[in-house]
Amino acid sequence: MSTTEKENPEVKPSNFIREIIDEYLSKGRFNKVITRFPPEPNGYLHIGHAKSICLNFGLAKDYNGQCNLRFDDTNPETEEVEYVESIKEDIKWLGFDWGDREFYASDYFDQLYDYAVALIRKGKTYVDSSTTEEIKNMRGTLTEPGKESPYRKRSVEENLTLFRQMKNGEFKDGEHVLRAKIDMSSPNMNMRDPIMYRIRHAHHHRTGDKWCIYPMYDWAHGQSDSIEGITHSVCTLEFENHRPLYDWFIDELEIHHPQQIEFARLNLNYTVMSKRKLLQLVEEGYISGWNDPRMPTISGLRRRGYTPESIRNFSERVGVAKRDNVIDVALLEHSVREDLNKNAQRVMAVLKPLKVVITNYPDDKVEELDAVNNPEDPSMGTRKVPFSKIIFIEKDDFMENPPKKYYRLSPGNEVRLRYAYIIKCVDVIKDSNGEVTELHCTYDPETKSGSGNTRSVKGTIHWVSSDHAIDVEVRLYDRLFSKENPEEDKDVDFKQYINPKSLEVIKNCKLEPYLKNAKPGDRFQFERLGYFCIDTVDNKEYTLVFNRTVPLRDTWSKIEKSQKK
Ligand code: ATP
Ligand code: MG
Repeated sequence: MSTTEKENPEVKPSNFIREIIDEYLSKGRFNKVITRFPPEPNGYLHIGHAKSICLNFGLAKDYNGQCNLRFDDTNPETEEVEYVESIKEDIKWLGFDWGDREFYASDYFDQLYDYAVALIRKGKTYVDSSTTEEIKNMRGTLTEPGKESPYRKRSVEENLTLFRQMKNGEFKDGEHVLRAKIDMSSPNMNMRDPIMYRIRHAHHHRTGDKWCIYPMYDWAHGQSDSIEGITHSVCTLEFENHRPLYDWFIDELEIHHPQQIEFARLNLNYTVMSKRKLLQLVEEGYISGWNDPRMPTISGLRRRGYTPESIRNFSERVGVAKRDNVIDVALLEHSVREDLNKNAQRVMAVLKPLKVVITNYPDDKVEELDAVNNPEDPSMGTRKVPFSKIIFIEKDDFMENPPKKYYRLSPGNEVRLRYAYIIKCVDVIKDSNGEVTELHCTYDPETKSGSGNTRSVKGTIHWVSSDHAIDVEVRLYDRLFSKENPEEDKDVDFKQYINPKSLEVIKNCKLEPYLKNAKPGDRFQFERLGYFCIDTVDNKEYTLVFNRTVPLRDTWSKIEKSQKK
């Protein structure tokens, strides 16, 4: 156990990353922990990024260190200020704080240029005037070595002049590149004279038109970490093969050397997680935007009703792995259920209303009945729910010809209305098509909830008083993809597997009046129906829109089980 762990009682169970950190701390290679979260501002953050955020900020917190936010903005064409803002909002919402350490790789463009000049002087880089095509053809393959460029032997002087001219805008896009001079026959393709700079006459969202050469990610990333004094550069597995290159740059430059540690990226089933694919869904209009509640983005999950706690708990639960794996999205849903079960106020709502007239209840009488706000947490108190002669129940809670063991309402049968009375169905009213439009019931005045009466029936259903109900719109969501791995078949467009029933909109749902003053973003449990959150975008002046976060139970696992039988 490290001293840090002894000092911090809240410390989490160890994992291989913490073991590496502990080892370096105990051996004195580092005496503090500085991590960073380095998003490229070319899209909105998704749940995979959330995992990386929780990990990097979490490690910094646990070791009393710090975590920087650094935008890796080396790609002027795909980056936008909108993305920068959304990324900051999402990290804050998740509950993390980068203090005054908001950095940009573009802050280091001057320094990176100077580093490149230093490497030219050392004879470690050269300007290559081959075309993109030629460079590609000379790279070789995994089994064959590459060929050295004819420009590889250029003198230091010539390289310095050309590189300066590249910077000064004397060439067109693609005319030259700056390359590291490493080893064209290295078995690691990343070491075959990788490109460090390319010419792009493009406007950058921060540096404007100052630059027309831009550093490649592989050149910018490790040096940015070094400049910031990062101790542990935590990144995903695909960068394992880049580590020797990052080490090479840093060793040649003789600058601070962070330790890169790779972990497996988070994958979820029934989801795609690459920003490029998510952007396609947005641009081609398959969903309403980056924050569509069906998206695996942090902004989509937030709008859907996920809490920051539930996402942090999920990240903790999935842990860090060294091998790629796929996590069941049901685990994410479980995390939010667990949180909302304890913390969300419960209310009654009827999504598909069926009118019920209680024939023996006085016409003008209204009773205010006591309802418990959350049985898991008595401190959340109680509220009053109005009861009257005409109420709504859920269409699904009535069957004219019920099967055996149907404990909800049917002709001649009794059911308890939650927090109210036992009622009995005495008459079924239908329209000319034979559709049930209304039920007539009688109530047993002796059976008021909380009155001490002990008569009981098997079923309890929810309801809302007709005169007092507020009308809202409810949106039920299902998984965005109906295939477990929408990317499985490389020849099939993943969008083929979009679930056509991923959104069901229900208008004129009935809610108990307690919700009159609820605000966008508020979360509730609708008894027996699931967890819901008031939308933050689409509310109309008099009609609130509720998004269902998750149903109360995982219906998919049930379906899957029944299919396996
Ligand atoms: P995408 O593949 O979705 O485009 P990316 O890696 O290109 O993601 P970046 O903006 O570069 O997106 O990611 C910022 C940080 O988030 C990186 O450190 C990256 O390793 C991490 N990250 C991205 N996706 C995941 C994931 N699925 N699981 C864990 N970490 C991730
Ligand atoms: Mg990336």
